Amino acid sequence: MKDPLKYIRPNIKALAPYSTARDEFKGGDISVWLDANESPYDNGINRYPDPHQRELKRLIARLKGVEESMIFIGGAGSDEAIDLTYRIFCTPGLHNAVAIAPSYGVYEVAAAINDVELRKVALRADYSLDVEAMLAAADSNTRLMWICSPNNPTGNAFPREQIVELADRFDGIVAVDEAYIDFSERGSMLGIVSDHPNVVVLQTFSKAWGMASLRAGMAFAVPQVARVYGMVKYPYNMNGPTQQRLAREIERDIAPQVAEIIAERDILADRLSQLETVKKVYRSDANFLLVKFDDPDTVYDMLVANGIIVRNRSRVAGCEGTLRITVGTPDENRRLLQTLARHDAPTC
Ligand SMILES: *Cc1c(COP(=O)(O)O)cnc(C)c1O
Repeated sequence: MKDPLKYIRPNIKALAPYSTARDEFKGGDISVWLDANESPYDNGINRYPDPHQRELKRLIARLKGVEESMIFIGGAGSDEAIDLTYRIFCTPGLHNAVAIAPSYGVYEVAAAINDVELRKVALRADYSLDVEAMLAAADSNTRLMWICSPNNPTGNAFPREQIVELADRFDGIVAVDEAYIDFSERGSMLGIVSDHPNVVVLQTFSKAWGMASLRAGMAFAVPQVARVYGMVKYPYNMNGPTQQRLAREIERDIAPQVAEIIAERDILADRLSQLETVKKVYRSDANFLLVKFDDPDTVYDMLVANGIIVRNRSRVAGCEGTLRITVGTPDENRRLLQTLARHDAPTC
């Protein structure tokens, strides 16, 4: 088994993390809190929150079937975990990362912010993953590989054997972004983390959980790696009201909503593929569809004029001609289809 600690930057490994007042408090029957220079006037938010989000970790551990020590929680979504992943493993100006393309734009922006070269490896024309090309793009300074599965914006998830193979053969960290995993029939890679300690799995509460506004993301890793995320993060990286709201929402059952989205996605894919102007609907394991049109810009403008916004991906390399359409409520999807049908090219 690989020792993931060898991929951690030396300065990070040597880090003595900031110790908050709440860290130093070791428990006891305290009723007068004079340790953190807070305001004593209770307005519900005058106290610092738990910097380690212990209650939330307990709930997430139960939800995901992992140990609490394997969890990092980000208060700026999983985008926070993406940035931290670069900061923990890549020395600026020295190490590089490899990512599939097309994929989520934040890998590239976070790489640039951290002065890390990002090497993009094109998916095949059918958007399948080219494991050999990924490995060939890596060199001795490659610390990180990004696999987004299901992938944004293509929608497809990759076979778990391929991800396991990358984890086995790549001498570095494989970060698997599972933002859309709840919509996919392919299971999460969470289960391989203990056997493959060079794997980090990212998930979020922004999509299937319906809490994009809360900005809550997660990273899962073996305890010795998850601990480092906890050391590098901002001390109070998730605010108190968010922790409390999230703890309540986690008790909810999202299965009915997820099932409805999946059913709607499949209906939508079917109806879209019957339109004249649609050239191809790509298979999706997520809550959106990548759809190829004859003239995506015209369709995009027409939809906007009708009060419907989708994502124009037609200028993204590998996505030429496409719009990315999020699955909405049954009513919203019907509106989309009616609007497209009204403007569909006449059949000859
Ligand atoms: C939406 C999305 C995320 C989630 O980002 P948050 O910061 O958690 O809202 C992460 N990765 C991908 C690929 C996404 O599409």
